[in-house]
Amino acid sequence: MARHKTKVIKIGKVRIGGDFPITVQSMTNTATSNVVKTVEQIKELENAGCEIIRVGVPDLKAAKALSKIREEINIPLVADIHFSADLALEAINQGVDKIRINPGNFPKSGLEKIVRLAKKKKIPIRIGINSGSLEKDILKEQKKATAEMMVKSALRFIKLMERLRFYDLVISLKAPDVQRTIKANELLAKKVNYPLHLGVTEAGREFSGTIKSALAFGVLLSKRIGDTIRVSLSADPIQEVKAGWEILKSLGLRERGVTIVSCPTCARTEIDVIGISKEIENLTCQIIKPFKVAVMGCIVNGLGEAREANLGIVGVKGAALITKEGKIIKRVAKKEALREFKKELKKYLKKC
Ligand code: SF4
Repeated sequence: MARHKTKVIKIGKVRIGGDFPITVQSMTNTATSNVVKTVEQIKELENAGCEIIRVGVPDLKAAKALSKIREEINIPLVADIHFSADLALEAINQGVDKIRINPGNFPKSGLEKIVRLAKKKKIPIRIGINSGSLEKDILKEQKKATAEMMVKSALRFIKLMERLRFYDLVISLKAPDVQRTIKANELLAKKVNYPLHLGVTEAGREFSGTIKSALAFGVLLSKRIGDTIRVSLSADPIQEVKAGWEILKSLGLRERGVTIVSCPTCARTEIDVIGISKEIENLTCQIIKPFKVAVMGCIVNGLGEAREANLGIVGVKGAALITKEGKIIKRVAKKEALREFKKELKKYLKKC
């Protein structure tokens, strides 16, 4: 299926849309006014693979900190603004790479000034629709926003921006459930060619939120809809970045770091598959170069999976076979399995 055709939008050094790779985003949860803490968190997120970072700007103190934060980081900085045109203007003047505004709570009276300044500074604006903060006239008396209402809100705001001759736009339509998120984005993708930022908002804690995001993004990205993603979790934002990458890797859309192929274990298991896989994850979390490791409990599927991996360990009666680029290089005693495999892994990582 061909990718949904969109404009290319430049956010600092990163481009999204068109044929550019789907990027992984996250958001800080420090006080933006605390420059030291915020920069520290962004750097950790950068190391984990975050490619665009958004910070909340609840007040002027936070807005005034933006230029200092931007100076210290290497990925594009996005200011998340609600309710206030003045904060948006200050954020743009501080040199952010993009702003995100929410039509449901943004004063339309301030829009013209913002658009003028964003054009001057050549930065894009994300129109971020959330099902929980839709405009009252669209929601009418209904308690729950439908996908159609979210699309209506987006189209109306896009028209407003286009009337002001502003086309440097990214759009997001987020709901806390999978079905509405999918439907809203599918509907909008038929109507506009702006890049789409995907997200299931308020998705919940790490486990359930990751599953919801994986499902929604999986459906949309398989239909080639979506240009950048954020997995929203009530958890450390590092987990958002990890989950984002895992989703893109699983769909074959991006590559980064280790991919572990490990079996679920059963009565045939000859080695500590769970412990070894965990250890590999810890040892390889900083590695960017893509590579594959197979950890298989027995011979049933073991050698087949190991053949496709850069490194592998397969349990056999009382021992373990270690493989490299599909070939068996060692047979070690069961109790030496982890130590010996770690040795081989470290040797391999030195070359990464
Ligand atoms: S690979 Fe072997 S040990 Fe692992 S789940 Fe399959 S049969 Fe069980």
